[in-house]
Amino acid sequence: MARQLDIIPVEEWGFFTLPKPMVIAGPCSAETEEQVMETAKGLRALGINMFRAGIWKPRTHPGCFEGIGTQGLRWLQRVKQETGLKVCTEVANEKHVYECLKYGIDMVWVGARTTANPFMVQEIANALRDTDMPVLVKNPVNPDLDLWIGALERLNMAGIKKLGVIHRGFTSFRKLKYRNDPGWKIAVELRTRYPELPFFADPSHMGGARGFILELSQRALDLGLDGLMIESHCNPECALSDASQQLTPDQLHELLGEIRVREKQSDDKDFTENLQQLRANIDVIDEELLKLLQSRMDISRQIGEYKKAHNVAIVQAQRWDEILDEMVKQGAAHGLPEEFVAAVYNAIHTASVQAQNEILEKD
Ligand code: PEP
Ligand code: MN
Repeated sequence: MARQLDIIPVEEWGFFTLPKPMVIAGPCSAETEEQVMETAKGLRALGINMFRAGIWKPRTHPGCFEGIGTQGLRWLQRVKQETGLKVCTEVANEKHVYECLKYGIDMVWVGARTTANPFMVQEIANALRDTDMPVLVKNPVNPDLDLWIGALERLNMAGIKKLGVIHRGFTSFRKLKYRNDPGWKIAVELRTRYPELPFFADPSHMGGARGFILELSQRALDLGLDGLMIESHCNPECALSDASQQLTPDQLHELLGEIRVREKQSDDKDFTENLQQLRANIDVIDEELLKLLQSRMDISRQIGEYKKAHNVAIVQAQRWDEILDEMVKQGAAHGLPEEFVAAVYNAIHTASVQAQNEILEKD
C-alpha cells in the first residue's frame, strides 16, 4: 500500500526561477574543466539556471568512460562560482552522496539503474538523512511503478521533502523507434497519484538521438509534466558518452523556442464555461457506462449460475475470441482504435471470468 508523500513544493526550493517548463541542462558527463565551463557559460546565456553533469557514469559495458570522478565536483563548484548556475549530478551510492555534500552540490538525482535496486536507494536515503538536499528520482529501467514509488518513499521516510521525479522511459529488448520505450502510461499514473510531485521528462535518454528530443519534449509537456532534463555539450560529436543525443547550447536554445507551452488553466470565461459543460456531459456518460457495466455483470453472473448447474467450464476461449474480433471490428466502424477496444474488452472479460469463478467456487 503506497503511503502519502510529504513534499515541499518545487516553487519553494529556490531554483528554477524561469517560467515553466523548468529546464535542467548540461553534458551527459563532465569530461574536462574546459568542456564543463564552456557548456555552462553557453547555457547560462540562455537563462537556464540548473546545470547537470554526470560525475560517476553507470555504463552498460566495462571499459567505456565511467566518469571523471570526484575531481569533476571541483569543476561544478567553479561553475557555481563563475556563472551562478545551480549544479546537480547523479548519485549511485553513499560515497557519491558524501562527496556531493562536501562539494556543495545543489541537487542530486538517482539514476534508472539505481532506482531499480532498493538496497542502493536505501543506502542513499540513509546518507542523505537530516540534509536539505533536493533529490530527483528517475524511473527504474523496468516499467514498475511501485518500484519507482518505493524509492520515493524510502527517501521521503529519511526526511527528504524536496523530492521530484524524472521520466526517462524504460529499457526494452525490442527494437523501438526510440532508445527507450516512453511508457507514458506509467508517467501519467504517477502524476495522477502524486500531482504535487515536480515531474521532469528526460527526452535525451528516452530518444537516444538528437532528432527525437523536440517531439518527446512536446509530448511530455502536453501530458502536463513540469520540466525537462536535456543533455547539452559544447561539442557533442566529441562527447565521451551519449554523443548522438547531446545538443549544443545553441541547438537547445532553438529547440526551446519551438516548444509550445500549454497552460494548466485559462482565465478565459467562455473557455471555462464550455469546459465545465463538456465535463458535465462526460460525467453523465460515465454514469451510464457504469450502469451498463453493472447490467452486463449481472447477466454474466446469471450465466455463471447456469454453467454451474450444467457443469460447464467457465472460459470458452473460442467464444471470447469471436466476441473480441467482433467488438474490435465494430469499434473501428465507430472510429475507436483497435488497441483501445481490445484493452477495454479484455478488462471486462477478466472481471466477468472472475465473477463466474466466484460463483463456481461457492459451497
Ligand atoms: C544520465 O542521466 O546521464 C543517465 C545515466 O541516465 P539514466 O539513469 O536515465 O540512464
Ligand atoms: Mn547520458
